[in-house]
Amino acid sequence: MANSVVVVPASSRKLEGKVAVITGGASGIGERTARLFVEHGARVVVADIQDEAGARICAELGADNASYVHCDVTNEDDVAAAVDYAVATFGALDVMFNNAGVSAAACYSVRESGKADFERVLAVNLVGPFLGTKHAARVMVPARRGGCIIGTASAAVAVTGGAPYSYTCAKRALVALTENAAAELGRHGIRVNCVSPSWVATPLTLGHLGLDTAAFEQAMEAVTNLRGVGGLQADDVATAVLFLASDDGRYISGHNLFVDGGISVANPFKG
Ligand code: NAD
Repeated sequence: MANSVVVVPASSRKLEGKVAVITGGASGIGERTARLFVEHGARVVVADIQDEAGARICAELGADNASYVHCDVTNEDDVAAAVDYAVATFGALDVMFNNAGVSAAACYSVRESGKADFERVLAVNLVGPFLGTKHAARVMVPARRGGCIIGTASAAVAVTGGAPYSYTCAKRALVALTENAAAELGRHGIRVNCVSPSWVATPLTLGHLGLDTAAFEQAMEAVTNLRGVGGLQADDVATAVLFLASDDGRYISGHNLFVDGGISVANPFKG
């Protein structure tokens, strides 16, 4: 997918005037979402630990549209500062996309799962979204302009044994966090949802599985029951996030939207 900014006609832009923070915005799903959000009129703060990539993406998107901030999502001061930076730089916060994540050591046995891996994956994939939700709400509630908080969970929440222990536990707990926050924040006009993608060829999955993109897409097609549409792309996930973030999703809250070709509801090996 090209990295140039696509010009979406003003009448079709879904996030005109909105401000978003995207954690993990320097790569993969977060990067594609940052680009799509800007095409749809949003101004975006990319928050990541990959400073060079994050700054390059924001430079490509233009200083009026995007700005990079270093943010380790496991560090509360960093997360609070990223949220405050969005408000100081672009005047508000409308969308918080808690997307940063890491994969786990490929360990599918509780007897072999390491404590350090378990804690690290929980810290980034669960504590990170908790801090993002907490600090987004801190500024969204008094601003009285509603808002939208979105997390990136995973189809692993529905496929028992489909991912390492630490990863599945973190992502299932993220769905619970989403539901709790939706229940609490709805009265302030703030919607809270998450997306659950199946496998996308990003550095996270390729590194985890030790495959190149072609081998990865071939393997994924074999386990996905939906046929004829190719492999899941980061842009497919970004489009779902845009839907939830925009007025198109105005009545959706507390929902986990699977973007997985139906893998969570159907066994691809049956017929
Ligand atoms: P990616 O590796 O391309 O991007 C992840 C980004 O998160 C990177 O830019 C990385 O620097 C950043 N990050 C990692 N640790 C961080 C930290 N402590 N603080 C701030 N940023 C940090 O991977 P991706 O596939 O785009 O992953 C994005 C999200 O999607 C993750 O939450 C992942 O678990 C989830 N997900 C991915 C897939 C997939 O198949 N790729 C499937 C389901 C869910």
